[in-house]
Amino acid sequence: MGIADSVRRQMEQSSWIRRMFEAGIELRKERGAENVFDLSLGNPVMEPPMEFRSALQRLANGPAAGMHRYMPNAGYDETRAAAAAALRDETHISYEARHIMMTVGAGGAINCVLHALCDPGDEVLILKPYFAEYLFYCYNHSATPVIVDCGERFRPDLTDLASKVTARTRALLLNSPNNPSGAVYDADVLTAIADVLTRASERYGTQIYLVSDEPYRRILFDGLTYPFPQLAYTRTITVTSHSKDLALPGERIGYAAVHPDLPEAGELMDALIFSNRVLGFVNAPGLMQRVVRDLQRTGIDVGVYERKRDFLYRGLVGAGYDVVKPAGAFYMFPRSPVDDELRLVDTLFSEGVLVVPGRGFGLPGYFRISFCVDDRDLEGAMPGFRRAIAALR
Ligand code: PLP
Repeated sequence: MGIADSVRRQMEQSSWIRRMFEAGIELRKERGAENVFDLSLGNPVMEPPMEFRSALQRLANGPAAGMHRYMPNAGYDETRAAAAAALRDETHISYEARHIMMTVGAGGAINCVLHALCDPGDEVLILKPYFAEYLFYCYNHSATPVIVDCGERFRPDLTDLASKVTARTRALLLNSPNNPSGAVYDADVLTAIADVLTRASERYGTQIYLVSDEPYRRILFDGLTYPFPQLAYTRTITVTSHSKDLALPGERIGYAAVHPDLPEAGELMDALIFSNRVLGFVNAPGLMQRVVRDLQRTGIDVGVYERKRDFLYRGLVGAGYDVVKPAGAFYMFPRSPVDDELRLVDTLFSEGVLVVPGRGFGLPGYFRISFCVDDRDLEGAMPGFRRAIAALR
């Protein structure tokens, strides 16, 4: 077949979630959908808030002339200004419209950032456990992912981080709240990371960017407020989306924000906008830009996810699993009761419960559960979780 060897290799490497997905389809056929509890996907079952529907309806009933045409590659000024104002209020950093580029989700934003920053062979630091797509996003731009270990409670191992920075390091890709662990990095950790990056930049005479991937930053539990990485490190590019906080993953809308205090902010934004264009995104979806302009301070009911987290956490701990309670996002990343987590994943599969092995996130010995699912799936999975740990111990 005529596809590139590199793509073939990447497809083989990326097969975990797809394999679970395909196996799930077979299992449903075999046992009936009502006997399968799919906790493998980060696709929220929640509907977007009412304000989303109202905004959509207003636009459909009163369309503005030319609203479906091309626009500047960075997006509509009004939407950029609205995103900047919300970020400014939250961080007390002087973001303005010119610091924001609307993007095709957080995924599109990360690709624009890596395209703008990386020459072939440049290195991008990625903290374990990580969102698996990061590796492929690096390969897209001929950058080399460099994986950094984690320590207790999924906190980054700072010694390992310091040892992995080289003269070729262009960026650290950080994701808090984290997929798959649900960890939120606190201000102390962020300051320590900033310290490592600052010292390394000085040593090598380079500029190292912190790319903060934050699609879950509004999904926080227990009254936590978000520790913003750009408060600890100026050379930060924030990327986010409304895939999770407004439950709009199919609509592909997000943004990238450049720190206003960066001397190179204007040039960097130009490079991001150029990248958005030449990667073929051209601009973020126009209709969605108009909709989310007025929804920057709105979100889904996080209490629903907190309740699901509590139910799952209580159930798993009660069954004997070793779990760090997630502080945000909608994933749990328990340790497998046997070292080879594929044995657990297979045992759960035979119970009709679908989860993803930790090796798909760079951390074998763990497994990911997604709890952005119906209560029926969480409740239905619980007997399977109990039987699986009993069978393997
Ligand atoms: N980053 C992380 C950590 C994610 O979990 C996801 C999606 O699951 C994305 C980025 C991509 O999000 P988007 O749908 O906004 O492209």
